[in-house]
Parts: sequence; structure tokens; C-alpha cells
Amino acid sequence: MAAEQSDAIVLRIHPWSETSLIAHMLTRQFGKISVLAKGARRPKGPFEAALDLLSICRVVFIPKASDALDILTEAKLQKRFRAGSSNLLRLYAGYYLAELLDRGLDRSVESHSAQLHSAQEQVELFDFCVDTLRLLDDPEHDVGTLVLRFEMQFLRLTGLMPTLTHCAACGDEIAARTDSTQRESWSVFSASAGGVLCRRCRGAGRNTIRLQDNAIMSLRRFATFDWRSIDTSAPISSDRAAIRAVVQKYLTYQLDRKLQLHSYLEELGR
Ligand SMILES: [Zn+2]
Repeated sequence: MAAEQSDAIVLRIHPWSETSLIAHMLTRQFGKISVLAKGARRPKGPFEAALDLLSICRVVFIPKASDALDILTEAKLQKRFRAGSSNLLRLYAGYYLAELLDRGLDRSVESHSAQLHSAQEQVELFDFCVDTLRLLDDPEHDVGTLVLRFEMQFLRLTGLMPTLTHCAACGDEIAARTDSTQRESWSVFSASAGGVLCRRCRGAGRNTIRLQDNAIMSLRRFATFDWRSIDTSAPISSDRAAIRAVVQKYLTYQLDRKLQLHSYLEELGR
């Protein structure tokens, strides 16, 4: 098969043999791939230092049949992930991005429900991730805001967005108000129901989380198609603990597994 070329982000690397390793990568044009990098563990291997976690590189690989690993033939480093050298929370946020993409896009192969539906979404997800890694490296941008933006955009681009404007059970519109004179200024969220529940349905939801209306407004805002318009310099102002709980519970439910990095990011809920 002919070799393909793409920009890629390294999501995970693990040894395969004494001299080779396997790398999982998100490519700009081909979605997630798993490649065998022969000789990568040799001191002067053919890929130099390109195969580091979260490195952005230009790769050339030979696609194989669906059940075999693709073969990596070239990897040229473009940008290394440096955010972690200055701040542990930013390092964890980067690792989390890698874990969510690696685990989250895995699931699509099995169930076909979490997948990128078009080539355009693939490119958008890649560009969005490159942008997120860049901003994580810049102390002007808030880590908690970047993480929530990443989670909501991942859900949007993979078609897994929870219902935030209508009741997940009956479909009635949820009128979230930020006006504090309202008697009822909170709703409940149910991961298993798939989103927010209205007043009538909230009693039937199991394992619900109480969410202030301004937190629902934040979630809606971060789900926008126009992610470049989200202000990432300001921290999330409201109900941070509930927002973290809602997103983590929902992702755990959707992906059918607990992501390891969630417990490293608890600080974001304080
Ligand atoms: Zn309802």
C-alpha cells in the first residue's frame, strides 16, 4: 500500500520489543492510528526525539489491513509539549487530553456511536487539539477553562453531546435562568438519562447531580461550534465542583470506563 503523510499528535507510546515501540496518534487527515515504530528504542533510532507524549510531528506511515498495525516510516518533530515543565496541573491537563482522545476514540471502533462523522470534523478536532496544547503552555490561559472547553468540544465533535437545552426524558425546554430572583435556579443532570432533567422528570432520574442554572449556561456556552470565541483567559466562575462532577460522570458513563487522569484534576473543581 502507498505511504500516507499527515500531521499527528502522539497520544500514547508503549514498548513492543527491545528496539521497537507502538505509538497511538491522532492524525489530522486519518483520525486515530496505531503505528509500529521499528528501531524507535535504539539510541540513534530513525525517529530521533519525535515520538514523545503529546509531541506534534509530521509522519509518514504505511497503512495495513484493519487488523494489523500501520508501519511508521518517518516522524519529524514539529513541536514538543512543554507546558508540564512549569506547572504540574498543566502537565496533567495535557495527559488528560491524550487519555481522552486515546480511550475515547477507541470506543468508536467498537460501538460506532462515538465517532468523527466527516473528514472535516477530523481536521477540526486535530486543529482544536493543537490549539489547546498551545494554550496550555501559556499561563495567560486558565487550565480549568481549557479542560472544560476540550471536554465539551470532544463531546460535540464525536456526537456525544448531552442534552442541555431540553429535558433528556420528556423533551420539554429547560429554561435556565441566570436571574437570581427566580425561585428555582437549579436543575438536575443525569448521566444515564443523557442530560438535564426538567422539574417534572427530575424525581425519576437516578444518580442525579444538582446544577445551578448558571452552570448549565456555562456548559451550553462551551459546547458552541465557534470554539475560538470562548474566552480561555478567565476561570469558570460558577459551580465548578458540580460542573466537574457532571462532565466526569457523563464521560465515564459514555466511555464505559473511568479515565485515570480525572482524579489528578480534582483541583479544578475547587
Ligand atoms: Zn422532563
